[in-house]
Amino acid sequence: SAIQIPSRLPLLLTHEGVLLPGSTMRTSVDSPRNMQLVRSRLLKGTSLRSTIIGVIPNTSDPTSDCDDLPSLHRIGTAALAVQVVGSNWPKPHYTLLVTGLCRFQILQLLKEKPYPVAEVEQLDRLEQFTNQHKSEEELGELSEQFYKYAVQLVEMLDMSVPAVAKLRRLLDNLPREALPDILTSIIRTSNQEKLQILDAVRLEERFKMTIPLLVRQIEGLKLLQKTRKPKQDDDKRVVAIRPNRRINHIPSTTEDDDEEEDHDDVVMLEKKIRTSSMSEQALRVCIKEIKRLKKMPQSMPEYALTRNYLELMVELPWNKSTKDRLEIRAARILLDNDHYAMEKLKKRVLEYLAVRQLKNNLKGPILCFVGPPGVGKTSVGRSIAKTLGREFHRIALGGVCDQSDIRGHRRTYVGSMPGRIINGLKTVGVNNPVFLLDEVDKLGKSLQGDPAAALLEVLDPEQNHSFTDHYLNVAFDLSQVLFIATANTTATIPPALLDRMEIIQVPGYTQEEKIEIAHRHLIPKQLEQHGLTPQQIQIPQVTTLDIITRYTREAGVRSLDRKLGAICRAVAVKVAEGQHKETKPDRAEVGEGEDCKEHVTEDAKPESISDTADLALPPEMPILIDFHALKDILGPPMYETEVSERLSQPGVAIGLAWTPLGGEIMFVEASRMDGEGQLTLTGQLGDVMKESAHLAISWLRSNAKRYQLTNASGSFDLLDNTDIHLHFPAGAVTKDGPSAGVTIVTCLASLFSGRLVCSDVAMTGEITLRGLVLPVGGIKDKVLAAHRAGLKRIIIPQRNEKDLEEIAVNVRQDLTFVLAGCLDEVLNAAFDGGFAAKPRVERLNSKL
Ligand code: ADP
Repeated sequence: SAIQIPSRLPLLLTHEGVLLPGSTMRTSVDSPRNMQLVRSRLLKGTSLRSTIIGVIPNTSDPTSDCDDLPSLHRIGTAALAVQVVGSNWPKPHYTLLVTGLCRFQILQLLKEKPYPVAEVEQLDRLEQFTNQHKSEEELGELSEQFYKYAVQLVEMLDMSVPAVAKLRRLLDNLPREALPDILTSIIRTSNQEKLQILDAVRLEERFKMTIPLLVRQIEGLKLLQKTRKPKQDDDKRVVAIRPNRRINHIPSTTEDDDEEEDHDDVVMLEKKIRTSSMSEQALRVCIKEIKRLKKMPQSMPEYALTRNYLELMVELPWNKSTKDRLEIRAARILLDNDHYAMEKLKKRVLEYLAVRQLKNNLKGPILCFVGPPGVGKTSVGRSIAKTLGREFHRIALGGVCDQSDIRGHRRTYVGSMPGRIINGLKTVGVNNPVFLLDEVDKLGKSLQGDPAAALLEVLDPEQNHSFTDHYLNVAFDLSQVLFIATANTTATIPPALLDRMEIIQVPGYTQEEKIEIAHRHLIPKQLEQHGLTPQQIQIPQVTTLDIITRYTREAGVRSLDRKLGAICRAVAVKVAEGQHKETKPDRAEVGEGEDCKEHVTEDAKPESISDTADLALPPEMPILIDFHALKDILGPPMYETEVSERLSQPGVAIGLAWTPLGGEIMFVEASRMDGEGQLTLTGQLGDVMKESAHLAISWLRSNAKRYQLTNASGSFDLLDNTDIHLHFPAGAVTKDGPSAGVTIVTCLASLFSGRLVCSDVAMTGEITLRGLVLPVGGIKDKVLAAHRAGLKRIIIPQRNEKDLEEIAVNVRQDLTFVLAGCLDEVLNAAFDGGFAAKPRVERLNSKL
């Protein structure tokens, strides 16, 4: 069963290194004989047999080709050539990878050139691996002893190195007779020693000779480990040094102090962790981490990372909450005190709070306040926290486009940190705060994932009791947190998110509401912020109205607030300068302000503040802000007579538009010129708006005769030799939506009839080709905008009548509403004296 090597072997003559059976060696081949062997035997041969060669060690270095064959060592190793690598640099040579198989002895040299070939006799048995156990029976004490040394040697090495572990396995698995050769080639031995081993043909002899080599290696290793010892301990210094130092009483340096402090910190940290009320899962993780931390040298970057993590875990309010003091009556008063108007919102909030009072762990919907900026969405959120006696935390989501902003980074990143939710909890220090998610409609989306999707988990009452931040990596219960969201529009909130929230619309304010808000809340707040008292400044209601109508045009009160701030600043300068002046208020203007009457001075000259610089008045006289003062501080009014100016020529009409910032009035202008019937639209219009324009023109063309509309040359075909240009000013803003339909019709009707549209009329409504007026959205905001702009008559679609109920009575009183079902009614209402259609004969036809 033993494997036989060929009886004739080509010989590779090596002069350095000794190949032993069972080991592998790389040898460089550059002598002519060896090169020949490689070329004609290894590279040309095709069978496995041709890759077996005899390696003869210890030949003297052959210098030239003509040399006779040197004397050869008698014993060599039969080897398998595993790899041949050729190179031409610095001179042609091959590198051979050979694995030793067994010993052989040269019986007779058969030929010398081009490379030597010899008849050989195999000296070692080459067993098949299946038979390996047989040999174990023949093992003597010697091999047993050898085996022990070998194991001892291997165990002194670092077992974590894969090669060492493999060697350990090999020791058990290889036939023992193979071990001496293999170990000799592994341990540190000289060529001479190896040669001796090679020559030791008898197994017993081989064992005998290898044992001293092993022992020498073991002793050497022992010595090495002794000298290395202190160095290895370096790594463990952090842990080990402390007890020693305490015993030795070595005076500690500052560095040591730090270390000690750190150590104490870690102990403290551990104590805190064990006494904290975190969840079981979190506790388990923390204890594991602190164990790691103790073993870690401080210089490791992970040390700081782990410590930060543990500190956060300790700080988080796992079980700490404030007690809700909820009394609905008090809440109502508080909400009323903080906010004027917004009845619908306050009602819904109170309902929500009442249910919470009755059922403590309410898994209710998340409230989402939607409305223009500055209508008090954020401040209502703050008031809710105040009524509940809870902590308040605002999380601004505008522009957030990375989901790890919500859910944190994994701790594997450098600079990783928890998301905003967990951060917020850490900041407020309790687990039941009011979280205001501001501007949810402005969440972005990017390659780093969709933050809206991450928010879903936070906001879903069914899931958020086990919210897992990537940084914490353990679940945190968010179910006690009261989430409130705010947005300007629902259009850009992802539907899945919208689905989890209850939308409460917060429309803009009317002028009257704004005046009340200004006098009840904004002015007192501004005075306080500027260190002024009502004895120093008086802002009568007419002035506020002036600010609202002439200096601001907004749905909320933010810019009003800013203007009031500007006034307070200006007054603060005057007060600080000690130059208190008073302008004479025009009684007619100031009217109702009782305070004002008191301070009317004898000096009746109507002057602005700056004009009366020389008029020093006692400091207790308040500065009265009238229109002159207003102009002086805020500059000339920004919005004024625009409406009447614009309507001084045919081809202009006022429409009403809805934007996320509230309602707006919108002018539509049209002009015509000679041309080929082209329609030009400008002002950044969306597709729906362009369609409305085409619809309007088509309807007017088909009804031109009825209304006696003609083009410049008097023809009823309105586009005959005529181009029309429609423009929607404020071209920087994209406009879209169908509600401008009626306005475009009116504007074009005015253009072709040459009549002026009434300057106090505004309109909104979608049109159809048949001339019907369809309902549109945002009526309340639009009406408020028209009211703000001082318009009187408003044309809205008939089917929007129900929306008028939402509008405050005082606004409705100021306005006349025309409910139009078809375009005839719109045109009749838009022009003074109506827009008479010729009694039509073809009416019946069109009905067919
Ligand atoms: P939003 O969040 O809707 O953009 P804010 O809540 O920031 O608006 O409100 C802006 C300012 O207007 C705040 O100072 C707020 O107090 C004030 N405010 C808005 N509405 C009211 C109101 N109804 N009553 C009192 N103050 C209000």
